[in-house]
Amino acid sequence: PKVVLAGIQPTGSPHLGNYFGFIEPWLDIQKNEASDVPLYLSIVDQHAISMGPIIPAEKLRLNTRKMAASLIACGIDPKRTTLFRQSDVPEISQMNWILGSLQTLAQLQRLPQFKDKSTKFSRGSIPIGLLIYPLLQAADVFTFKGTHVPVGEDQSQHMNLMNNLAFAFNSTYKLEFFPLPKQITRQAHARIRSLRDPRQKMSKSDPSVRGRIDVDDSEAVVMEKCRKAMSDTITTVSYDKSNRPAISNMIEILAATTRRSLDETISLSSTWTHTELKDNLTTAINRLLGPIRERLNYYEQRPQELEEILAENGVRARMAAKKVLLETRELVGLC
Ligand code: ATP
Ligand code: MG
Repeated sequence: PKVVLAGIQPTGSPHLGNYFGFIEPWLDIQKNEASDVPLYLSIVDQHAISMGPIIPAEKLRLNTRKMAASLIACGIDPKRTTLFRQSDVPEISQMNWILGSLQTLAQLQRLPQFKDKSTKFSRGSIPIGLLIYPLLQAADVFTFKGTHVPVGEDQSQHMNLMNNLAFAFNSTYKLEFFPLPKQITRQAHARIRSLRDPRQKMSKSDPSVRGRIDVDDSEAVVMEKCRKAMSDTITTVSYDKSNRPAISNMIEILAATTRRSLDETISLSSTWTHTELKDNLTTAINRLLGPIRERLNYYEQRPQELEEILAENGVRARMAAKKVLLETRELVGLC
């Protein structure tokens, strides 16, 4: 049976990369899947401390609630989607431990995201959470026997590892116990880049906020970020990913935001100046974010309502998780 599952870290507000790479595809799933297909969306607060305890406790708590508010404001329906806080389901952590016995150190150390993020630490101070992050991701999915995982392109290597783990577990304990999870990544918009450095993807944890547009940015901030976005020295507007990555990224974001095809957007913008491109981008983004900001504002003033939604959904998620964990423990001999 089909089970759709994804996670997002409460490391900040969702940005346009999260929106087009993962939230919008989720909204499509929410609309199109049959009502008996379970949809689990996890606000992965345990993942948010994998870089070390760099987010103060009260901030992390607030971030988690704010992420819930943002997701609901974007259209995620907590009655249809089980929107829950990862740490409310401790079964995931026990699954994580069980999976650890099938995972080698070498494979984890080879992952590009680990290599990249670990360079931010001196050699002796890399937190182990950063290393085993993909293992916890696998646990997120396996604890619900997830079959389909909507993610951005940056998660492909982790999805690969997850598949290898499912295969290893099944070969060791029981054939076809865990479904091999299928990555769902749209071709378009799977990797939105930073407005300040198009070599990098747009990221919540990028210390510079100027490279990303968050769904709760005000109209003025959106305008400011678009105006200051990196461009290049050629005066026209044209799409050329390798020679004009910054301009091409803006064209892609405009296409995503207006829901026009890339081709259509390329020809539309071919007579524009850089300023016109940035102004059109500003208008389009503000049109998309307007209603989201309003709903977000509504929920931010009702923290109690949000806590209730998370608590209720946490109970629902935990019921499903307990069942799978029990079966898993039996197979391994832990009960
Ligand atoms: P962090 O920098 O803290 O890792 P993030 O911006 O990468 O934050 P995540 O919470 O790690 O966000 O990822 C949530 C989802 O959004 C994942 O499915 C991820 O693949 C997707 N995603 C993240 N950044 C982008 C992007 N720039 N373009 C498309 N999808 C993205
Ligand atoms: Mg990330």
